[in-house]
Amino acid sequence: MLLAIQKAIEVRLKSILMKKCLIILVVLAPQVLLSQTRKITFPDVPGYHTLVCDLHQHTVFSDGSVWPDIRVREAILDGVDAISLTEHIEYQPHKADIPHPDRNRSFEVAKEYAKDKDLIIIHGAEITRSMPPGHANAIFIKDANKLIIDDPIAAYREANAQGAFVFWNHPHWPRQKPDGIAALTEMHKTLISEGLLHGIEVVNENTYSDEALTLAQENNLTIMGTSDIHGLVDWLFDIPGGGHRPVTLVFANERTEDAIKEALKARRTVAWFKNNLIGNESELGPLLKSCLEIGEAHYLDETSVLVAEIKNNSDARFVLRNSSKYTFHLNTDIIEVPPQSSIELRIKTKEKLASVELNFEVLNAITSPGNHPEIILEFEINQD
Ligand SMILES: [Zn+2]
Ligand SMILES: [Zn+2]
Repeated sequence: MLLAIQKAIEVRLKSILMKKCLIILVVLAPQVLLSQTRKITFPDVPGYHTLVCDLHQHTVFSDGSVWPDIRVREAILDGVDAISLTEHIEYQPHKADIPHPDRNRSFEVAKEYAKDKDLIIIHGAEITRSMPPGHANAIFIKDANKLIIDDPIAAYREANAQGAFVFWNHPHWPRQKPDGIAALTEMHKTLISEGLLHGIEVVNENTYSDEALTLAQENNLTIMGTSDIHGLVDWLFDIPGGGHRPVTLVFANERTEDAIKEALKARRTVAWFKNNLIGNESELGPLLKSCLEIGEAHYLDETSVLVAEIKNNSDARFVLRNSSKYTFHLNTDIIEVPPQSSIELRIKTKEKLASVELNFEVLNAITSPGNHPEIILEFEINQD
């Protein structure tokens, strides 16, 4: 009898424990899933760390809707390595409610909030003018107050005197360029030739510009992608629904502010936008190679059908078009490799080979308008 009671108590305890575990799982699962999926993750490339940077954002200190701590918390949730709160110098719609004669406050508040957190805060400001020259971000500045200058060229000069990296914001913005076509004006040509303008947004918020990409490449400007967030990133970029904020991937010698500045000035960037990677071949090539790895390959039983694994170490959902001489058994010429996972390909090689080279056009990567880079995946075949 005693044994039966003991057993009954054990069973009851077990079921309580199971229920508790279940409750814990149910409560934790969405958060675990969320933290696994929303952090922006790309692998390092040979010689450099791949840093996730969002260097154009706003708070209530200009026309944004949140206090700077929210920007810090969003960035940490998204796995961002560095942010800059680039408040408009000349546009201050909340000034009556939130007076702040010192234009460095947004940076200082964010820096204080992030002091024991793993996030780099870069001091920045948005020089906000009508066209030309339009809007530009000056980052790595020392004193935003000194950028309050009437003459726009003098403001760029002051930013540069402070050691800033300066990039042209949304050059394709229809409010300033009604045809939506990014184009240089004489003033921009002067700024570039005098070394006062170093980068250009090819991606801003939810917009992209082929013409800005061409301007970057023709004028040796750094390719930038930014969220230009004013509200909440979760709402604007549908992060709960699987979206991501646009960012600049910066290939830096180390994870420091100085190394980010050096990399930006050396134009080692790729923009990440709506599942597309946008950059020069010199940066995209190594990145794609690091993202897509080949796994094990063997022939299927007594056939000449090769079973080969492709692994994706990144957040990109790769869309590849087969441009090699072989055809596939499970796929058409278009294959998709989902983020952070691997797929099995079955390749009809007609005879048993020791190694196989596959060529793909990466349709979700852009090296120049309309051009998608090619990657070569070489499989060594397991003969056992
Ligand atoms: Zn702007
Ligand atoms: Zn802005």
